[in-house]
Amino acid sequence: MSLKDRSIAIVGGGMGGLAAGATLGQLGVNVTIYEQAGAFTRIGAGIQMMPNSMKVLRRIGVEDALLRTSFQPYSHLNREWDTGTVVRELPMPADLFGAPYLCMHRADLTDALASAIPQGSLRLGKKLAGLDQDGRGVTLHFEDGTSATADAVVGADGVHSLVRDLIVGPDEPLHKGRIAYRAVFPSSLLGGRDIGPSRTKWWGVDRHIVIYYVTAAKSEIYFVTSVPEPAGWLTKESWSAKGDVEELRAAYEGFHEDVRAVLGACPDCHKWAILEREPLPRWSDGRIVLLGDACHPMTPYMAQGAACAIEDAAVLARCIEHFDGDDFEAAFKLYEAVRKPRTSKIQAISSANTWMKGGDDDTSWLYGYDAWNIPLEAASA
Ligand SMILES: Cc1cc2nc3c(=O)[nH]c(=O)nc-3n(C[C@H](O)[C@H](O)[C@H](O)COP(=O)(O)OP(=O)(O)OC[C@H]3O[C@@H](n4cnc5c(N)ncnc54)[C@H](O)[C@@H]3O)c2cc1C
Repeated sequence: MSLKDRSIAIVGGGMGGLAAGATLGQLGVNVTIYEQAGAFTRIGAGIQMMPNSMKVLRRIGVEDALLRTSFQPYSHLNREWDTGTVVRELPMPADLFGAPYLCMHRADLTDALASAIPQGSLRLGKKLAGLDQDGRGVTLHFEDGTSATADAVVGADGVHSLVRDLIVGPDEPLHKGRIAYRAVFPSSLLGGRDIGPSRTKWWGVDRHIVIYYVTAAKSEIYFVTSVPEPAGWLTKESWSAKGDVEELRAAYEGFHEDVRAVLGACPDCHKWAILEREPLPRWSDGRIVLLGDACHPMTPYMAQGAACAIEDAAVLARCIEHFDGDDFEAAFKLYEAVRKPRTSKIQAISSANTWMKGGDDDTSWLYGYDAWNIPLEAASA
């Protein structure tokens, strides 16, 4: 049977699900994405896309659109929280790792990914409630009482993944008592002050803040923090929970004036719990496989969660193609063998929050990775 005769259902239309829709669609597979939300809302948050994920985005045809809308920082800049002393700076020209480094609004990335999936492949308002599989395929059951069938299913349903619960078993994500405040707001509120040409991470003793522009025109600023939070608040992250901007400013009181100027200009903010998880024992069961935060959720400290989900999408498509769409179980095992060592390493470093803190970390294994060209054979040996 050829790939064009195969059907794959993707549960979740986040970054990973949309990217998988695009890579599988390019193979000619009949792909359908089931997303529980009734519409994509414009979440006020930025996102960094490093050269490793930009290589995937290039091949699915959205690099040019993102270059037009995104901010291209000069460098990864790491500074001391109070003096502003530079502890590590990595200039990131596009030719260093074979693709650009971009900072963008999350909604612009979602729009770009949604433009790359096959026409008519997205079903909104479809919340998965259960799955059944046998030797011939998988049946998906939705909360609205409807069902659908596919030859295989990709669970791209995020950190609280139901698909993961169904195939690996339920457990709770780790919440280590830290939260992130975040906001996107017009740069004009800074009264002409420029935050500089880089993406800057300000390292405090027990907290940090990352600040960057999210548009090519530098019209909007984004920041995201990590601060300790007394136990009891939010163990389930929520993109809509509001934070108290006065509490936020107080948490960064002694920081450098460049940080205080940004927080002082910020009109309001959101906050959410930072969750992570130990690497899972396995990522697939028969014709069902996991992708993105569903199988390797991580802290945001290396800015690699969505990047890894997007890399997954490229490698998963290659593994399915490797077996001509004939043996999903083998394809999914190969995909896990190729991807898990890398995502587990990133999960661990991200959890420790040591990346580019001032050490001489080799950055080429992370940003130089090319999901389209890493060998599959070594992993299958
Ligand atoms: C503060 C913060 C900053 C970050 N910054 C970066 C960054 O700069 N760069 C980066 O690469 N990553 C970053 N990340 C990580 C990134 O946001 C995630 O890793 C990424 O969104 C994971 O994508 P996903 O598709 O796996 O999951 P999600 O984006 O969570 O998507 C899951 C989708 O599944 C849907 N869904 C869930 N359950 C069901 C169901 N039962 N039925 C149907 N649909 C369902 C959800 O509605 C959702 O749309 C950051 C994360 C945080 C918290």
